[in-house]
Amino acid sequence: MTPKIISTLLATALAAASTTALAAPAAKPTAAEAERFLADTEAKLNKLNNEQARAAWVGSNFITDDTEGIAAYFAERYLSASGEAAVGARRFNGLKLSPEASRKLMLLQQTVVFADPKEREQYAALQAALNGAYGKAKYCPTKDACMALGEMEKVLANSRDEAKLKEMWTGWHAQAPAYKDKYVEYVALSNKGAKQMGFADTGVMWRSQYDMPPEAFAAEMERLWQQVKPLYDALHTYTRYKLRATYGPDVVPATGPIPSHLFGNMWSQTWTNLYPILKPAGDTKSFDLTKVLEERKTDAKQMTKYAEGFYTSLGMQKLPESFWERSLLTKPRDRDVVCHASAWPINEKDDVRIKMCITPTAEDFTVIHHELGHVYYFLGYTKQPFLFRNGANDGFHEAIGDTVALSITPAYLKQIGLMDQEPDVNADIPQLLERALSKVTILPFAYTVDKWRWDVYSGKTKPADYDKSWWQLREQYMGMKRPVEGQGITGFDAGAKYHVAADVPYARYFLADMLQFQFHRALCREAGYTGPLNRCSVYGNAKAGAKLQQMLAMGASKPWPEALKAISGEDKIDGNALLEYFAPLKTWLDQQNAAFAAAEKK
Ligand SMILES: [Zn+2]
Repeated sequence: MTPKIISTLLATALAAASTTALAAPAAKPTAAEAERFLADTEAKLNKLNNEQARAAWVGSNFITDDTEGIAAYFAERYLSASGEAAVGARRFNGLKLSPEASRKLMLLQQTVVFADPKEREQYAALQAALNGAYGKAKYCPTKDACMALGEMEKVLANSRDEAKLKEMWTGWHAQAPAYKDKYVEYVALSNKGAKQMGFADTGVMWRSQYDMPPEAFAAEMERLWQQVKPLYDALHTYTRYKLRATYGPDVVPATGPIPSHLFGNMWSQTWTNLYPILKPAGDTKSFDLTKVLEERKTDAKQMTKYAEGFYTSLGMQKLPESFWERSLLTKPRDRDVVCHASAWPINEKDDVRIKMCITPTAEDFTVIHHELGHVYYFLGYTKQPFLFRNGANDGFHEAIGDTVALSITPAYLKQIGLMDQEPDVNADIPQLLERALSKVTILPFAYTVDKWRWDVYSGKTKPADYDKSWWQLREQYMGMKRPVEGQGITGFDAGAKYHVAADVPYARYFLADMLQFQFHRALCREAGYTGPLNRCSVYGNAKAGAKLQQMLAMGASKPWPEALKAISGEDKIDGNALLEYFAPLKTWLDQQNAAFAAAEKK
């Protein structure tokens, strides 16, 4: 589960402006005018955003046609205003202004805008159509027995029947070509909107949001991937041996790409469901947090209190009273709500909330620590001006809560009374392996989802080559291939992924994944910890907490390398932190792989 976050600037990224004139007026504007424009714009957007947040909150907590309509109305008002602001900001480009004002103008302009109302409508309609087509897609083995994506995912997660897995995989991937034409149309229109804002294409606009030239960002992604690739390769090799033992050498080749329907996930992005196949021999779970939480009848509030306790142990404030009054922590018995966990900043004072249907499980224990990461980020940067109330870049927000979740170690659980005795060091490998099956496997996937789109948006990859390019990247970076012959020039396998159909950028998940280990390492260092990173918990360490707070308070007010520097002293993302964290696993994988190779030679 990837909890989502309601974030102002992310929401405006796809705004369609209701404006009539894109041409800049002839008179040269002054710096004073720019400052006034920004002050007015921030006041206006702040108000509209608060209204929109309230309407959206009600819309997802009491789902009816009326509340949906109200939420859509206020969302549209906000989007129109931010689109207008994006266009209005352009006339001040090139003026000599304070660094804050220049940064605000830059942030305002990271969006596509359409001058022609017809195009604006068409853009919104295509977005809705693609979302709808993805959401309604079904695989129908027989005329009256159709399967939704969720059911097919369950089969992929649990079945070991290769033919069945292949059927599910191909069944789902056969759906996307139906909306390929719409996607092609959407890409062209989106590019037009990006060009109107001065970007070469939408992909360039996406890569321009990282305080460096777009081509430098692309190079940075590749550099980071190369850093961690040896760990992925070791995991891939180990998994190949285990899959060969499970499905036989006819299905899983000794070398070359592995068919992608065997990884327990529709997109092979996380392999957690393969854990029963991959787990070390003799791994018996000695401790089960879910069992403990269930036995103690830990309720939703108590679960949240545990997480709050982590943050206050770092010296952070208690959650405001209104958080407890207004959050939704349990699934209501009498009505529909969106249960997907999310964190909400409702206003710039201290109205922060979460919406989550908490159950007493180990997974929710982690998720609630994650969600409060968003909440403490909101509270941390609440004193910033409106346009800076955001993560330093879009990877930061997701990374905070995950960083804290890395501190949920046996030592922490023992300290808060949920575990009697810490397991010995041998228990580390199973835990690290399970964690790597999501945190390491996602990296080449997250990278290439956007790498593919950069080329689609630039026109380098033509629609007839969508599948060719998609699978070339899959093979090169993930070591995977299509399980059966593809659909050639009409194929659209990328569109079988939600974030492609719905056009949500994906690089942020790659960055968040990298950053959380770097934050974790930095906080552990600050706490004076010198042992293995995977055993470090900064629970109770106010010194580490102060470092974290310092970064949270900056919000998006400075280029993100400065925020990274505030917490870590480093101004570049460093994949070595992730490698250090998984170092014991890498050693173990290398030993296993060497033993497998030796056994095959005999
Ligand atoms: Zn999140």
